[in-house]
Amino acid sequence: MQVKPTEKYRGRDARKCRICGNSRALIRAHNLYICRRCFREVARNIGFKKYG
Ligand SMILES: [Zn+2]
Repeated sequence: MQVKPTEKYRGRDARKCRICGNSRALIRAHNLYICRRCFREVARNIGFKKYG
């Protein structure tokens, strides 16, 4: 039985921004899963004012 470990984290479970797809500076707090840049814009929409 062959196993491909490289495909372990592929698919919808990938850890990257849901908005722009960037995987850098990802914020997982509150199940947001968005990058820091997009978080600033989204935070305003959801009323999250404790950032910046
Ligand atoms: Zn983003």
